[in-house]
Amino acid sequence: MDFLPLFFKLENKACLLVGGGSIALRKARLLKQAGAIIYVVSPKIDPELLALVEASKGSYRCGKYQIDDLADVFLVVAATDNTPLNQLVSEHANERQLPVNVVDSPDLCSVILPAIIDRSPIVIAVSSGGQSPVLARLLRTKIESLVPAAYGQLGQLVGSFREQVKQRFSQLDDRKNFWESVLHGPIAEMVLSGKPKVAEQLLSQRLSEQTDPLASVGEVYLVGAGPGDPDLLTFKALRLMQQADVVLYDRLVSDAIVDLTRRDAERIYVGKKQADHAMPQKDINQLLVDFAKQGKKVLRLKGGDPFIFGRGSEEIEELAEHKIPFQVVPGITAASGCAAYSGIPLTHRDYAQSVRFIAGHLKDGTSDLPWSELAYGKQTLVFYMGLVGLPIICRELIAHGLSPATPMALIQQGTTPNQRVIIGNLQNMPEKVILEQVRAPTLLIVGDVVKLREKLAWFENMPEDN
Ligand code: SAH
Repeated sequence: MDFLPLFFKLENKACLLVGGGSIALRKARLLKQAGAIIYVVSPKIDPELLALVEASKGSYRCGKYQIDDLADVFLVVAATDNTPLNQLVSEHANERQLPVNVVDSPDLCSVILPAIIDRSPIVIAVSSGGQSPVLARLLRTKIESLVPAAYGQLGQLVGSFREQVKQRFSQLDDRKNFWESVLHGPIAEMVLSGKPKVAEQLLSQRLSEQTDPLASVGEVYLVGAGPGDPDLLTFKALRLMQQADVVLYDRLVSDAIVDLTRRDAERIYVGKKQADHAMPQKDINQLLVDFAKQGKKVLRLKGGDPFIFGRGSEEIEELAEHKIPFQVVPGITAASGCAAYSGIPLTHRDYAQSVRFIAGHLKDGTSDLPWSELAYGKQTLVFYMGLVGLPIICRELIAHGLSPATPMALIQQGTTPNQRVIIGNLQNMPEKVILEQVRAPTLLIVGDVVKLREKLAWFENMPEDN
């Protein structure tokens, strides 16, 4: 380890910045965030930097760097494009045993400024020891996406209760256990889901009472898993997936996504196929209630978005009746996913001003949809569950006035490596589908926007991994 990470308290400490340009400005922003008093020496200064210096209660000396500039400072940062000058500043600082950072020259540094993930009071620093700042920043981006923004609030909550907890538990181990249970449990979850006030109340309650008000109540997360590509999950979905004790998922959720749930979680398949109900809806609803009543964190993973043809609301109505806490996390619905990955925009200024999502699951032979409303110009129709009813859909749309030549796309297993797109029109699509032997799930898009695919297709054209 070339550098030991230390966190430096700079509040009201004098820091010297040698250089007045854009690099110096970047460093000054960081110093300012840490509350430092910034002194700049340079023949010229960027106006924004000057404003920062003044706001920090520091000052600017117009001129060349001199050794006297180092008097009474706690940290020196050389940010000029003049290598001999940077070297000189570094030498002087080292002679005086002053910590010095020289931008882009790790050899001249006794301290380096890491890439920072700021969730104050939680701060994460990533450093490559000056070898590759780009790599450090890349890693920072990864960590940024893993650590929810509300971690800062969580840190503040813990900070504000520290003294009280210390008084309540005199033993270090007891305090540690208490905080672990808070940070792994529903109180932390309240903060992360945007309810810090409730979390605060629960924490006080838990401290003042002997019993735990939440110990016996579980929670249900109704989470949209998107159309198939695991990269289309939301951060929130992933976070809840990794903390649930039990996972109930159905057929539309791909294995790759189920694999992202906690390794030791109990996984239960409750999938349905048409006319082959693996588990009746009311049994699923009951399972959710039962597990939650056992105090478990239950993840109900649904394909796409739980509130779009997902029966999500039926499941949570039952939870609401039993007063079981739940959260709903939206997902990318099949229409958005398939449209994007097949290069078919759902709206377009020239071709479609509106889009309708329709359940195409028609009861045998009947046509119980408002066909005359659907057979309407400049509108995109998206049929979910429309494969079986496809011939009826095409027939009725033509009968109600749409041209037989109206373009249509069938997207099979959209956003997954098995995605296939069949292009046709209302007239010939039923026949094409028989010849092509398509596999579920499939989505139908009807309207002039389908023509744009010719130009905008990108996903199937990507080079394959070898
Ligand atoms: N809640 C889901 C829809 C459930 S209904 C959502 O928001 O996407 C099930 C129907 O969704 C399927 O019959 C099919 O029409 C469509 N569907 C779901 N995932 C799909 C995918 N990856 N490709 C094509 N269609 C899909």
